[in-house]
Amino acid sequence: MQYKLHLSIENLHKLHEHAEANLPTEAAAFLFGDISEHSITVDYIELVLNESTSSITTFKVNPEEQYRLLVEAEERNEELVCIFHSHPAPPFPSTTDRQNMKLNPVVWLIASKENGNWESRAFLMVNDDVEEVMLILC
Ligand SMILES: [Zn+2]
Repeated sequence: MQYKLHLSIENLHKLHEHAEANLPTEAAAFLFGDISEHSITVDYIELVLNESTSSITTFKVNPEEQYRLLVEAEERNEELVCIFHSHPAPPFPSTTDRQNMKLNPVVWLIASKENGNWESRAFLMVNDDVEEVMLILC
């Protein structure tokens, strides 16, 4: 059964605006909500700063900031369900992304502006394989 990611159109727009504002570097965000069976619902998004200085095609989030956001989510009874970032390349997980997906086994939402408009696709690492997650806008 395919996993589904439920995200509001409003939040997707915010993520894409964030991606646009961060060009030419990659933008990142954490998405919080809950998971039930194969259905993942995003209730809250937090745009984060990309601290990577090594390359414009990677992203790195301050660990203290990440920790703070996780604690705050726990207080709201939410969990980290998805990590968003934008790509200069097509919206598919890179080799680095695949390694990070194993370390952070949540849904990975990747945006790309390859065809002129921002487009996002979602993926999840399942048994060492990348599976596409159906993005459901609500
Ligand atoms: Zn990537």
